[in-house]
Amino acid sequence: MLSPALEKQRHQLFAHTVQGMEERLQSGQDPAAMLTALHWGMRELDRTFAETPAKVRATVACRAGCAFCCSVPVHVQAHEVFFAAEYIQKKFSPADFAGVLTRTATHRTRVSGLLVDERGRLREPCALLRDDGCCSIYESRPEACRAHHTNSAEPCRADLTELDVAIEKAYIPALRARMYAVMLGIDEAIENAGFDDRAYDFGSALNEALTNSLCRVLWMRRQPAFPDSCLAEPPEPTGETIPLRSS
Ligand code: SF4
Ligand code: SF4
Repeated sequence: MLSPALEKQRHQLFAHTVQGMEERLQSGQDPAAMLTALHWGMRELDRTFAETPAKVRATVACRAGCAFCCSVPVHVQAHEVFFAAEYIQKKFSPADFAGVLTRTATHRTRVSGLLVDERGRLREPCALLRDDGCCSIYESRPEACRAHHTNSAEPCRADLTELDVAIEKAYIPALRARMYAVMLGIDEAIENAGFDDRAYDFGSALNEALTNSLCRVLWMRRQPAFPDSCLAEPPEPTGETIPLRSS
């Protein structure tokens, strides 16, 4: 149960984020305007963390190179996939780009045949995780990655190998409430503008975004950006063969 003060902050952060996103989304209907709005929203997430009271931030166990949480499934919406894809296309070397393509394709093939509960239990390193335990797209990582913190790394480690770890007990309510208010505000504004609001498996959808330029066109037309096989919870296993396409 959140305190009345925290509940008030949560509402204010949500309203501020929805308004800020909607103002920026109304400034243009092209991909560049969308990305400008998203950059603002992601910065708001980072600002919200930085402005969380120091005594709350002092309880955060997260450190650079601590990456147990980067082996659990990441669910995203389409805008987060395009945000990450833009960064990869602009910043990665050809060799690093090829590496991401290979790892996301392998991941996509692996999860495509899994049932929903099997997907939830899957533990494998994210395709964007570097060997040093840091995120290779840190500036453009998805909202869930930005908003996820715990007060101890131990339950995160245990969650990789043990079933039914009560990881929520390590969450930090005074931080999580604020971060989720901003995250939900970003998503609310994008959904209100009519964009795809389906939950996708990050690795699968990223592979599609990096290999099929039509995805972005569909997204801007307010249609589902990625095929059902990329959904976090697809209707049923498809056993789909992944075509190799270049954008
Ligand atoms: S959530 Fe857990 S695994 Fe991830 S950085 Fe924080 S302490 Fe480490
Ligand atoms: S995108 Fe980055 S922060 Fe998120 S799970 Fe992958 S490596 Fe970790």
